Amino acid sequence: MTGKYDVVIIGGGPAGLTAGLYTSRAMMKSLLIEKGIPGGQMATTYRIENYPGFDEGISGLELSQRMERQARKFGLEFSSGRVEEIRLDDNEKVLITDDGLEIRTKALIIATGVEPKSLKVDGEERFRGRGVSYCATCDGAFFRDKKIAVIGGGDSALEEALFLTRFAEEIFIIHRRDKLRATRILQERAFEESKIKFIWDSFVEKIEGDDTVNKIVIRNLKNDKTEFFSVSGVFIYIGSNSNTEFLRGLVNLDSNGFIITDEKMATSVPGIYAAGDVRTKTLKQIATAVGDGAIAAKSAEKYIEDK
Ligand code: NAP
Repeated sequence: MTGKYDVVIIGGGPAGLTAGLYTSRAMMKSLLIEKGIPGGQMATTYRIENYPGFDEGISGLELSQRMERQARKFGLEFSSGRVEEIRLDDNEKVLITDDGLEIRTKALIIATGVEPKSLKVDGEERFRGRGVSYCATCDGAFFRDKKIAVIGGGDSALEEALFLTRFAEEIFIIHRRDKLRATRILQERAFEESKIKFIWDSFVEKIEGDDTVNKIVIRNLKNDKTEFFSVSGVFIYIGSNSNTEFLRGLVNLDSNGFIITDEKMATSVPGIYAAGDVRTKTLKQIATAVGDGAIAAKSAEKYIEDK
């Protein structure tokens, strides 16, 4: 089966949905391919407080659904699947998906975002989905009145730990330094929350349990002592990796695997653009992702017109 488009967007987070809104509204035949649910990481965020226009905050799922509806209204098509290969054929980009679809497009926008990093410690894989989680919104309710650990010291760790206070009895935030990376407002909220305790200068060495997690082994980096913590859940928020493996060297990446673009979101290959968290940038936020998406869409439109 084949399809032909003016613009194909890979990834349905805020960057991809915005790009699709702009290209379809500009009357370009546009398709968005998403392997999960529209909204991506945004859809799994409990509450978003810093996206302009929603002064009371908005749930990530609702914002995702609104962005999807808005893009569909202007004719953006959606396809569920995973792009496995991209070939260049003269001026066309040819995409092959995991279910054997061949899709041809004049311009391509990559907005595949990021995936949570794993700790790579003993027990993490074994207990994934049985106490080890990377999504508090998805799994938090399983830990009602339980003790849990949150690993990391960035915005995600603190924001999700604060969300988890509505379920858990006690939350240990385990951070490898004695200073947090998270923004001041989140730090202040976490310090004020009586259910949250910080374990500084420490890292998780091992996750243990029977059927599900029941304890973790922590090593203090300053005195090298180890300690057991009885917890039922471990939420890991230690940053993310780019989703660029499927590109297999097609466009230039930085040393961390993120796509290098110019200010027009152009990659090293003419007609291929990147938007959102998957590209090298300083501030990874929904507000900046939608900006990237709009610019990438406009650049793709200009590229097609010039051809
Ligand atoms: P991040 O900012 O990269 O923070 C990752 C945290 O995990 C850091 O504290 C880091 O420690 C720690 N860490 C990294 N590798 C580790 C390891 N192997 N073992 C133990 N700890 C490790 O990632 P993030 O919190 O996911 O945020 C990603 C981006 O999204 C950021 O730009 C953030 O501002 C943004 N974000 C924004 C919001 C918001 O605006 N509300 C919410 C979520 C995310 P060190 O500090 O020692 O490096």
